[in-house]
Amino acid sequence: MKEWMDAIVKPVAGPGLELRQVPVPVPGPGEVLIKIHKTAICGTDVHIYNWDPWAAEHITHPPMTIGHEYVGEIAQMGEGVTGLTIGQRVSGEGHITCHRCRNCHTGNIQWCKNTSSVGVDRDGAFAEYVCIPQTNVIPIDESLDEDVVAFFDAFGNATHTALMWNLVGEDVLITGAGPIGIIASGICKYAGARRVIITDLNDYRLELARKMGVDYAVNTGREDLREYMKKAGLVEGFDVGLEMSGSAAGFRQMVSVMRNGGKISLLGLGKPMVEVPMNDIICKGLTLQGIYGRKMDNWHQMSYMVQGGLDLTPVITHRFHYTEFEKGFAAMNSGMSGKVVLDWTK
Ligand SMILES: [Zn+2]
Ligand SMILES: [Zn+2]
Repeated sequence: MKEWMDAIVKPVAGPGLELRQVPVPVPGPGEVLIKIHKTAICGTDVHIYNWDPWAAEHITHPPMTIGHEYVGEIAQMGEGVTGLTIGQRVSGEGHITCHRCRNCHTGNIQWCKNTSSVGVDRDGAFAEYVCIPQTNVIPIDESLDEDVVAFFDAFGNATHTALMWNLVGEDVLITGAGPIGIIASGICKYAGARRVIITDLNDYRLELARKMGVDYAVNTGREDLREYMKKAGLVEGFDVGLEMSGSAAGFRQMVSVMRNGGKISLLGLGKPMVEVPMNDIICKGLTLQGIYGRKMDNWHQMSYMVQGGLDLTPVITHRFHYTEFEKGFAAMNSGMSGKVVLDWTK
């Protein structure tokens, strides 16, 4: 095993990232060292690259390796690791949880109060190797396309958000056509929704959503959502809403077009304080569910949906070698991208 590796590092508190040599982590008891094959760039990584207020608050110990969406193979196992083999293809749950709090004890690890995130709170996966606890290792079937598995972390957010509610025969509104919104639109169609309508202000991303199979992709900057609802045959409003934009305007519009008794899951983080139409939420009897991370069962659902025919390749718009990571971040920052995959195999 070599001692040094390439890694994409946040060198100091400020904008930008640097490709540099760092020590290969040594797996301690119960830990697994994963050799990275492919990674994908998440919106979180772009926040860290740009060094916005969120990044300045959360990245407290530069220099550190970033990145949390990846697929690779097991390279080394620490003392006491069982049930895994060297060379096995794996991904990893990026939220490392405490196994002690009330939610961890009841299997609701997505609500652990002591979560530490790979690539944010500890060294991440934009490197030749990443080290994580065995409990977070997710075996990945050899039949799955590694370019897609590279962004299973984000697919997991979409799965968690979409499969929170019954979708069979339901009409779904997705506000926000970022990669997670686009992936969620594919999940909703796959899971049996009648109509899926997605909104955004970015035509490039709305076009990607059309490729994913949404019924209507609506630019609410210049088009009337209610016209499309009429076209789609909606009578009383949407049954299910997936808020993926983090925009107060998007959320307010969603509340205004939900049917009474509708269900909304909220994934998009926005400004900490926004005005919400409280009286409409109450009088319509809406159910609101905040979504954070993934449930462990989402990892099984993801593999099985892909094996069952859910094609997520339309959301991949760029592929680069990791040494060209700057191009990947430029594509993400341009708004003219879906998922950007970085190759670490060569
Ligand atoms: Zn992510
Ligand atoms: Zn916990």
